[in-house]
Parts: sequence; C-alpha cells; structure tokens
Amino acid sequence: MTQQKTNPYLQLFEIPAGYLNIMGYVDESEVNGPGCRAVVWVQGCLRECPGCFNLESWSFEMNQLISIDNLVERILSHPRNQGVTFSGGEPFWQAPALAAVASKVKEAGLNVMSFTGFTLEQLQGPYAPAGSQALLDKLDILIDGPYIQSLAINSPNSPVSSSNQKIHVFNPALQDQITWASDQIEIHIFKDGSRLITGYRGGLELSD
Ligand code: SF4
Repeated sequence: MTQQKTNPYLQLFEIPAGYLNIMGYVDESEVNGPGCRAVVWVQGCLRECPGCFNLESWSFEMNQLISIDNLVERILSHPRNQGVTFSGGEPFWQAPALAAVASKVKEAGLNVMSFTGFTLEQLQGPYAPAGSQALLDKLDILIDGPYIQSLAINSPNSPVSSSNQKIHVFNPALQDQITWASDQIEIHIFKDGSRLITGYRGGLELSD
C-alpha cells in the first residue's frame, strides 16, 4: 500500500484543471453496475476502512492523469459500453471533473453510476466535497456508504458489499436492472498479456 505522505487536499489542487487522477480503467465490465459498462477507479480516499478491497487507491499522489475529453472519448469508443461506473478511491473528491465526464457521456445516451463512501445525506450537506451536487445531478444510480467489515454481506446475489450501503436509483428506467452481484469476479486479459481482475466488492487488481 502507498501511504499518503503529504496533505491530500493540496494534492487534489495539483490535478490540472480539466483532468482526473485515476487509479484504473476498464471497458465492458459486467460486474460493476447494470449491463455492460466502463469503470473508472479514481485515485485517493481518506477513509481507511478496515477490509478495504482497494488499498492502492488510498493515496492522493499522482497516478494516472487523464483529461476529461480523453476519458469521454475512451468510454464512447467502445460501443458495448452502455454506461460508466465511478469507483475508487472516493469519486466525490474529484466530483467537478466527474460531473463533466458524466454530462458528456449522458449526451451520448449512456447511463452513469457512482460508488461513494459518503452517505447521500452527507453529499447533500454543508461539508460535502466541492461539486458534489453537480455530480449527483448527473447520476442515474448512487451506491452510498463506506464498506463496514462487520456488516459484510458476502453473498453472490448482493449488489452491495456491506448492509449499511444503500442503492439510490434516480433514473426509474434502471429500477429493474439492479442485477449485478458484488461477489462476482471478472478477469480482463489485454493484448499485452497484462490482466485486470475486478468485481469482487467493486475492487480492482492489476498484474502483468
Ligand atoms: S471508502 Fe471504499 S476505497 Fe475508501 S477506504 Fe473505504 S472501502 Fe476503501
């Protein structure tokens, strides 16, 4: 695990305008939301939840910088992507840029879902990260709440990882599509031989 050594808030300010600092990306995932979708794992989370499935996402240090336009282009270049899921890390620390991505992919007819360690009430309250409401306004589905190990579900049929987490479906057209399961695993093998394993509680593992 890479520990954050400097103030994460300052590191957020180091992200150039119009860019995101991400940990990973994959197309055509079927275990991170409804249907077939792109997944963006953002870099940086302050929560340090025991049992976190993505320890490498905690640091706010620069990992992969990608512009909003390049990310949108990447998502839309795969015709099988019906939507995009933001995971992490904590997506809402980079809410303004993700709201811009969401706005552009929705114009192209895709749906947008996000995980967050905040509750919806916190995101709508006075201490929410900047831009939270703008991102909420673009979401079709929000899965809120931190992962709490003592409340872990570990069921092949559950779309959430711990029982405190709630599914908020803002788009009624997706109400009957909450069919993925957080304990399913998906392995992507790329042309260069590298692998990406995802789906287990929304987690991400990269290997050569
Ligand atoms: S909110 Fe998610 S990414 Fe952050 S520490 Fe908790 S489980 Fe890990």
